Amino acid sequence: MTGSVLVGRAPSPGDISTGYDAVVVGSGAGGLTAAVCLARQGRRVAVFEQHFTAGGYTHAYRRPGWEWDVGIHAGGEVFVRTPVARIELDGARASGVVLADGTQVRAPVVVSAAGAQNTFGTLLDDGDGERSAVMRRGFPFVLLFLGLDGDPVEPGLPRHNLMVTDGDCDAFFDGTGVRTSGLFLSFSCAKDPTWTAQHPGRSTGEILAYVQPELFEPFQGSRWRRRDPAYLALTAELTAELLDQLHRHLPRTRGRVAYHELGTPLTAEHFAGWPGGSLYGLAKDVAAFRDGRRPGTADWLRPRTGIDGLYLAGQDCLAGGFLGAVTGGLLAAHEALD
Ligand SMILES: Cc1cc2nc3c(=O)[nH]c(=O)nc-3n(C[C@H](O)[C@H](O)[C@H](O)COP(=O)(O)OP(=O)(O)OC[C@H]3O[C@@H](n4cnc5c(N)ncnc54)[C@H](O)[C@@H]3O)c2cc1C
Repeated sequence: MTGSVLVGRAPSPGDISTGYDAVVVGSGAGGLTAAVCLARQGRRVAVFEQHFTAGGYTHAYRRPGWEWDVGIHAGGEVFVRTPVARIELDGARASGVVLADGTQVRAPVVVSAAGAQNTFGTLLDDGDGERSAVMRRGFPFVLLFLGLDGDPVEPGLPRHNLMVTDGDCDAFFDGTGVRTSGLFLSFSCAKDPTWTAQHPGRSTGEILAYVQPELFEPFQGSRWRRRDPAYLALTAELTAELLDQLHRHLPRTRGRVAYHELGTPLTAEHFAGWPGGSLYGLAKDVAAFRDGRRPGTADWLRPRTGIDGLYLAGQDCLAGGFLGAVTGGLLAAHEALD
């Protein structure tokens, strides 16, 4: 992607040590929280991130003339463009990771903040059929990045987020309703008192909505920026639907949209590594949690994994969303330091 705000650095030969006190897989909110907590307790920590910038679902984007800040900025020793291929076990204990280029990195503590499916299904491949069987993906999303003419006041952009749940949400989640649901509109530029001085006459924002995963199944395996014309037609239709919703809820944005770009579940899978492009990782529905009468399918998800030395951080070890990811990182570090 051109013009992302790059955080972290790609390692040069010799940069990565053969051993650390702890390695963290994934540099989203969960991974970075765990890494910072461990480092502040004096541990030598390396974070490995597959993408070319750190931050996971919270990294910032730029396009010529436009900037979207969807979350946090990291600092520190974070190796980007460094996918982890495998978590190493020494007997029944985690002992480090193997990077995609074959480099072995040893550590008595491995924190995986790359999601449960990636951790147990790919990085560990522990063959635990029971565990795999109960891992159900959450819903994916489409994300429309917007550039608007005018400072945030002119198009009437709110400082608060808008969550729109009109329509039949149950039918959507049953797969019998509309293609998108659960609209979320956010304009961080309106909350930033320094925005207008830095970007006079311009505003940015994001519209996020859950989307039916089946729509993107025909395009699985296609490559970013080399997608099929049918995929481009689908994204154009979804973009038009989301713009309609924007104008319905914020009418003063009409005629002011100067730039838009749609991210899909395939984009999320490509950049943030979540299988199926899930927004909140594994399904966080009623069945996932114990309801007092029966156990939840996700009850086994904990920062302490049952494998000595391996900890799960991020939104899959606790709850979905930014707070769930950060709390998951905090708890994983706490368990690792215990
Ligand atoms: C536009 C947008 C708006 C949002 N708004 C909100 C909001 O208002 N409130 C809220 O609560 N949540 C929101 N969310 C969701 C929230 O951002 C996420 O739930 C949270 O950031 C997830 O953090 P995480 O650390 O668990 O995962 P991620 O941030 O996805 O981090 C996982 C990282 O692991 C990396 N990785 C995966 N596999 C490997 C591998 N093999 N080797 C190395 N690295 C790997 C990925 O590249 C990724 O960087 C929003 C998300 C988006 C996209």
